[in-house]
Amino acid sequence: MSIPIKQYDVVIVGAGLAGCAAARELKRRGKNVVVLTKLHPLRSHSGAAQGGINAALSEEDSIELHMFDTVKGSDYLADQDAVELMCSKAPETIRWIERMGAVFSRTPEGKIAQRPFGGQSKPRACFAKDRTGLTLLQTIYEQAHRDGVEFLDEWYVADIIYKNGVVNGVCAYEIKSSEPAIFQAKAVMFATGGYARAFKINSNAHANTGDGLSIVARHGLPLRDMEFVQFHPTGLAGTGILMSEAARGEGGKLLNSKGERFMKKYAPEKMELAPRDLVSRSITKEILEGRGVGPNKDAVYLDLTHLGEEKIMERLPELRDLALTFLGRDMIKEPILIAATAHYSMGGIPTDIHGRVMKDAENKLPGFYAAGECACVSVHGANRLGANSVLEALFYGRHTGNIIADDLEKEGLSFIDINESVADRMREEMETLRTNNGTERVSELRAELQESMTNNAGVFRTQETLERQREKLKELKERFKKVRIDDKSKVYNTDLQEAIEFGHMLDYSTFIVEGAIARKESRGAHFREDFPNRDDENFLKHTLAFMDEEGNIKLEYTDVTLGIFEPQERKY
Ligand SMILES: Cc1cc2nc3c(=O)[nH]c(=O)nc-3n(C[C@H](O)[C@H](O)[C@H](O)COP(=O)(O)OP(=O)(O)OC[C@H]3O[C@@H](n4cnc5c(N)ncnc54)[C@H](O)[C@@H]3O)c2cc1C
Repeated sequence: MSIPIKQYDVVIVGAGLAGCAAARELKRRGKNVVVLTKLHPLRSHSGAAQGGINAALSEEDSIELHMFDTVKGSDYLADQDAVELMCSKAPETIRWIERMGAVFSRTPEGKIAQRPFGGQSKPRACFAKDRTGLTLLQTIYEQAHRDGVEFLDEWYVADIIYKNGVVNGVCAYEIKSSEPAIFQAKAVMFATGGYARAFKINSNAHANTGDGLSIVARHGLPLRDMEFVQFHPTGLAGTGILMSEAARGEGGKLLNSKGERFMKKYAPEKMELAPRDLVSRSITKEILEGRGVGPNKDAVYLDLTHLGEEKIMERLPELRDLALTFLGRDMIKEPILIAATAHYSMGGIPTDIHGRVMKDAENKLPGFYAAGECACVSVHGANRLGANSVLEALFYGRHTGNIIADDLEKEGLSFIDINESVADRMREEMETLRTNNGTERVSELRAELQESMTNNAGVFRTQETLERQREKLKELKERFKKVRIDDKSKVYNTDLQEAIEFGHMLDYSTFIVEGAIARKESRGAHFREDFPNRDDENFLKHTLAFMDEEGNIKLEYTDVTLGIFEPQERKY
């Protein structure tokens, strides 16, 4: 049967904040744009963001201070030109989304309220209670709709069309029917989100399987800084469901089994509001040294009881609800149990500061763009500060949308000759997985992947644990060849989708592990117990990693764009 080929100026993959923001700009500039998404847009992980979005709005704050905090937080790995662009546009981004209808929480004087967040020198996170992401996503989705953006929900994108050195569309199938289609486009933008599902304890939506990254990597294109995975300090014990940093921003205290406020040992000045990498390591250390709480002694307390019912219900109602539902504890009356949870991916598809994807250290890949969590611009370097990511997704989504429109007008991006064969790879992948008659189960392989990634490539890493994980990944890849799915039908075949997603998880996990083995230093979220210090002489560099046909990873390094902030030792 022949595959339909549809044509658009621009195809955007992903309908979170980044995808929706870009689509709206493109539509307003008269471009024929479609958004493909495997979920209903409002189920994108952006909607789960709780705590806030940063912008230097108050008189006591400044753009330069926001930039400094971001660069220091990144352990000096962020590119300072990108940081400058994002921080200087943050106030405008807040006004832009507010005028579209996003209702932010207010001060008694009627100004936009701002709460303190980790690693920030001023209260800078604007918020809508603790449902900030949902408010922003509903607003931008609604407005994109109003402007007539076409959304194709529950379409799974399985490949890019990469031919003659340009990207010219994507191959996808409708989840409802498994029917494939080719979406040819003069420009493609990926906004496919993060990938923390590779870890057992994580805060991410089930959909955060990093598809976009390995789709790109399988064409021999690079990924940047993949070893940097952020562990958020406060996930609910056992599940990893997020308790936003807003909890500490509002005054939450961390206590060990002796009732000690242990952060005074690790960050005497900033205490609980030190950046995430530091707080996560402190919590994990307390647990490893036997001062954990709970039945398995694998958690510490987050105490909010002193805030009182009124403040908790006004500022943190969602968190209270989550802790009640998933832990059976009421934070108004008693401390809750938390531990570090895999949360955010600093690494991703390398782009220049305008969202144009790089095909190697120097050259851009015509027709291809990325923004939001799947992209590595890099504004977060080795460690992202809380409330900078929703900002990145919204600002860079919007900005990249405009850059694509400019490029379409100036550079004359056009259609190339293609035929149905561009979908061969996707069809083969689907067919092999559906008909394979092996003995391995995706759910079991995935559980082993997540467990081993958490143990061997988690908060603390060593050469030994990482090499163990390298071997584990090889084993899992071999076993995945013998996988079998039970559902052979074409209707809503979620078994098939999970198998495809698991393939992606295996591939990008290899990038995380290989990057981490080679980076023999500790920087930001990447902590090597055998190399506990930062080593600027050898590693003040971005990792650029390429995968060959056999799945082997080759690493290169590129310079960090420095600026007015000289690398210093990080103290909080
Ligand atoms: C629980 C939680 C709380 C957070 N809180 C905050 C916060 O308070 N402040 C902050 O700054 N950041 C926060 N973050 C991080 C932030 O929310 C995300 O980094 C950001 O929203 C990502 O937006 P995005 O548009 O890049 O991707 P997402 O919102 O994750 O959207 C990804 C999109 O890609 C689509 N997609 C993926 N793969 C495919 C495929 N193969 N085919 C088709 N479609 C595909 C999905 O359907 C989805 O629409 C939080 C994250 C989590 C998990």
